[in-house]
Amino acid sequence: MNEYDSEILTGLLKENHYELTASPGEADLILLNTCYVREKVKHKIYSKLGELRKLKEEKPDLILGLSGCLVQREPEEVLQRAPYLDFILGTSNFYQLPEVLKEISGNDNRKKQVGKRYTRIVRVEENGVIPEDLPKLRKRRFSAFVSIMRGCNNFCSFCNVPYVRGREVSRSSGEILKEIKELSREGCREVTLLGQNVNSYGKNGKENIDFADLLSLVNRIEGLRRIRFTTSHPRDLSDKLIDQMACLDKVCEHLHLPVQSGSNKILSRMKRGYTREHYQNLVDKLRQAIPEITLTTDIIVGFPGEEEEDFRNTLELVETVGFDGAFTFCYSALRGTEAAQSEERIPAEISGERLRRLIELQQAILLKKNKSLVGRKFEVMVEGISKKNPDEVEGRTRGNKIIIFPGGKNLIGRFIWVEIVKAGCWALKGKVISC
Ligand code: SAM
Ligand code: SF4
Repeated sequence: MNEYDSEILTGLLKENHYELTASPGEADLILLNTCYVREKVKHKIYSKLGELRKLKEEKPDLILGLSGCLVQREPEEVLQRAPYLDFILGTSNFYQLPEVLKEISGNDNRKKQVGKRYTRIVRVEENGVIPEDLPKLRKRRFSAFVSIMRGCNNFCSFCNVPYVRGREVSRSSGEILKEIKELSREGCREVTLLGQNVNSYGKNGKENIDFADLLSLVNRIEGLRRIRFTTSHPRDLSDKLIDQMACLDKVCEHLHLPVQSGSNKILSRMKRGYTREHYQNLVDKLRQAIPEITLTTDIIVGFPGEEEEDFRNTLELVETVGFDGAFTFCYSALRGTEAAQSEERIPAEISGERLRRLIELQQAILLKKNKSLVGRKFEVMVEGISKKNPDEVEGRTRGNKIIIFPGGKNLIGRFIWVEIVKAGCWALKGKVISC
């Protein structure tokens, strides 16, 4: 979601005659669009700001701004810790960037008078309405993110999102379809529909439409070849949606379904609204309906009160499901969230040790799964040159597996059939069998 918003921010800047520079040293304006999903992120942001401050001291005309989730959550602390910022913009106000820049440049006289930049501009509103039709500077022509909703109503006890992104609001289906049709006309072949809980799309809206209906409308858009979506909440994943995923030809055979924990005690304390059995039942239904489906997940270890037995339940679930990937995190206590008030904190050494065991297990599962793919053929969409070897490209299968194979720039954005010849834990190597 932050990446999507960053595409809007750069789109707005482009419309206002700014251009992206290759390095911060060349810039007239530097804007950090922040995330705040774990405490660690905050340290990174302040340390980056510390570096940029030095740049600003060398170049006093440099405009330095901060936007996004950290700003929304703690505007006062941000202003106190980084008084040299020229402006801050919350998650509901980020689109006001051009006005803010105009205001800053219109105050040159005052700047001269007081010998420093005009007083900081602060725009942080709660639940403001973000206009449609904002320009976007997309990173890639052939694949795009499309936000279908913003915010979240779930208040999982560990999570900052409802506080930094506000309550859940679905975009109108008409606007979403218009955006995707336009993308498709411009050569986009894959869209990823974004929302914190896409399965509850439409629930609080005026239209009589749910996420499964939206998928089937997107599936009809000409030119589009792949539809992905994230994130799905296990509580709201309906049988109707599973059926639609199985029969809509453009919907990819991959689902990111964060489980967070395999212990019912912890799931209940996390306020996730489902049990381990419910999750396992969903996995069974998904695999029955879509045998080729790949499943990925998010898992938190060291949640307050997590005992060794709870953690073993998580390992057991990971083993039973056999995920194709997992984002694994040590629990981070975020000020103001319910779980952060718990006194049953798990010491960092124990969380770290559990994380290590979890990653080890997941890697072994993945390696086994990947090895079983050697000799199989997949259609991939080529996304770019391999980061490790300029003579190779990387492409993604419908199941979201990355395959690296020999090729050049001319293949980027194209659909190619590839056979897997070698499998490691992180990478699959392939050879082209048809272009
Ligand atoms: N909406 C998604 C869902 O319901 O699963 C999750 C969105 S959250 C931005 C992404 C992931 O970050 C979560 O699934 C969770 O695993 C992790 N996360 C969120 N808050 C966390 C915290 N306080 N400590 C550790 N991990 C956290
Ligand atoms: Fe956070 Fe996801 Fe829970 Fe919403 S559903 S509160 S975004 S973890």
